[in-house]
Amino acid sequence: MPARIPGRRLLHSPGPTPIPDEVLHAMMRQPMDMGDPRLDTIIADCESGLRAVLGSAQADVFFYGANGHGAWEAAIINLLAPGKLALVPGTGHFSESWALQTEALGREVRRTPWHEGWPIDVAAVEQALRDDTQHQIAAVFVVHTDTSSGITSALAPLRAALDATRHPALLVADVVASLASESFDMDTLGVDVALGASQKGLMCPPGLGFLAMNARAFQVVQANPTPRYYWDCVLRKSPLAYRKFCGTPPQNLLAGLQAALALLQQEGMSKVLARHQRHRALVHAAVTGWGQGGALGFFGRDPASRSAAVTTITVPAGTDVDALRAVAREDFQVAFAGALGPLQGRAFRLGHLGDQNPANVLGCLAAVEAALQVQGLPIGSGVQRAAALLAGDARLRD
Ligand SMILES: *Cc1c(COP(=O)(O)O)cnc(C)c1O
Repeated sequence: MPARIPGRRLLHSPGPTPIPDEVLHAMMRQPMDMGDPRLDTIIADCESGLRAVLGSAQADVFFYGANGHGAWEAAIINLLAPGKLALVPGTGHFSESWALQTEALGREVRRTPWHEGWPIDVAAVEQALRDDTQHQIAAVFVVHTDTSSGITSALAPLRAALDATRHPALLVADVVASLASESFDMDTLGVDVALGASQKGLMCPPGLGFLAMNARAFQVVQANPTPRYYWDCVLRKSPLAYRKFCGTPPQNLLAGLQAALALLQQEGMSKVLARHQRHRALVHAAVTGWGQGGALGFFGRDPASRSAAVTTITVPAGTDVDALRAVAREDFQVAFAGALGPLQGRAFRLGHLGDQNPANVLGCLAAVEAALQVQGLPIGSGVQRAAALLAGDARLRD
């Protein structure tokens, strides 16, 4: 039997994220029979709570017992009729993964270039829309926060590009990493479809994905002849729990989500977002301090688009990022992420989203600083800067 780990291992991957005790406890319950009205209440609370977090009054919410890739699949298969295209603005590893999944399902993709370190190239998106005079593009698949780059792209300019070109394509936003950490307001932004998953800002275990869509998007779904069954939103639009989930609902995950949404509501979304901004500032202070050693830096070139959910930190070529992570995890009990795709070996990522507080964030930063020292990387003092920032914040409060 592996030895017990004393205390708690801090989880700073940008998903999955730590789960609040309230959520764990809510999930620890016996299954309910399918006709039990308590089940209908849980599902209704999840739908309305999610609408509130998304900032949508009317959106239809479709849940799947699936991860974020399942939600991607649901979006692709429900929204793209045969012969239609998706325009995928380049954001990094996640836009490319979504594009590849779209192509694997037999749909053509048009991409705009990704400029390393920067958010979406809106001018390129607008040009691609303008060039599409036949309106073959049925949807723009946008990753709001690309979890690999740690960069958040503003969505309003994309809506503006669709409006300026009078292009009817749906605006589809992947908010897997940004929901409940970055400001997102589906109705105000004119986002037609939002998709997400349970294990990031929503503070739940992995395994629950969702699509939320407005009436215009639902009409596109209804008119789409693509063969589908399990993922089909038309079949799932029903008052019956068994139909909503195309079979038995994942009851315990839903009970967890119900509890998590209640926690977000109790704290208030504006406070949730402010908390994430404070944690981002702590991480930024530390990275700035580490950078004084000349070796580490921010991957995101534009400070305003660095995400409140995750920070991608560059390291010199040849750094053994896996060894750095192993020391932090096994010796110091802090888990964080390596880099993905083309950034592998060039960066690591600290997640600061979800159920986090200043102690967790400082603990993470201190362990990372120690692990960087173990690896012999030249760094300035980061933790000291973060602690000074925290103290300054507290002083401002009285
Ligand atoms: C995590 C993530 C996904 C994929 O989610 P899985 O649950 O791992 O399939 C998709 N998009 C973004 C932006 C993510 O952060």
